[in-house]
Amino acid sequence: MIIVDSIKQIKSVVKCYKTAGNTIGFVPTMGALHNGHLSLITQAKKKDDIVVVSIFVNPLQFNNKEDLEKYPRNVSKDIDLLKTKGVDIVFMPSVEEMYPQEVEKTYDFGQLDKVMEGAFRPGHFNGVAIVVERLFRIVQPNHAYFGEKDFQQLSIVKKLVEIEKIDLEIIPCPIIREENGLAMSSRNERLTKEEREKAAIIYQTLSKAVKMKADYTLQEVEQFVKQQFKESVLELEYFSIVDADTLSSIKKWSDSKNIRGFVAAFAGNVRLIDNIAF
Ligand code: AMP
Repeated sequence: MIIVDSIKQIKSVVKCYKTAGNTIGFVPTMGALHNGHLSLITQAKKKDDIVVVSIFVNPLQFNNKEDLEKYPRNVSKDIDLLKTKGVDIVFMPSVEEMYPQEVEKTYDFGQLDKVMEGAFRPGHFNGVAIVVERLFRIVQPNHAYFGEKDFQQLSIVKKLVEIEKIDLEIIPCPIIREENGLAMSSRNERLTKEEREKAAIIYQTLSKAVKMKADYTLQEVEQFVKQQFKESVLELEYFSIVDADTLSSIKKWSDSKNIRGFVAAFAGNVRLIDNIAF
């Protein structure tokens, strides 16, 4: 496994592999790796000849300074894990390497970044798009793997590739969960043992909500979810039922054939997100 921190070096290593006829699969991460990240790598290993993983905690996508400071970092453990997964190249640039100058670019994602995470974390998706576009232009992969855990991010990245005409395919990967159903996340490391147990209510509630679809109206299901959170120790920030393609909210089940429910909730001061197909 090669570990690279310079843009010049990764570009030349990737070029060598591509010239020799290999396809490149790319998994961008912010480190503190867990089985969710590793599942993306497993998919990349199946499809591509060479797998590149980046570890970069992107300051531009943190709208909350404390969240950035507290973001878990564990580089040596990450590197050991990546070795066991047979990753070929790890790209770990510094902030100065990625952003030698101040970056000013504003994307137009239409409705996609106006709702849910976009509404509650202003500037977040613009920061995501800046780093993802930059990483795509550096690594030039054939395929890039993203988790449905961050479904709205996945929608933004697909749109980014379309509007910036970047020649690669985005591969969506399913959500990997802990035994109690909690979606795996680097932020889970910041939960106490009790919070981690209590946070299981997120997926339990989403699963129940999906089962209710057959017999209840959309508003009744929304009410049910809100009530479940009221009775829990978690604080619900939003629950939205939307069309999964446009992320626009819908009023009744028949409004869309591709429906998804999205939650953001706080367990203590840790913000957790999850989503489910209806
Ligand atoms: P992050 O390090 O949080 O930026 O995540 C890097 C990639 O891993 C993103 O594409 C995430 O959607 C994906 N990912 C994170 N957690 C999970 C999970 N529990 N299941 C599937 N993919 C995940």
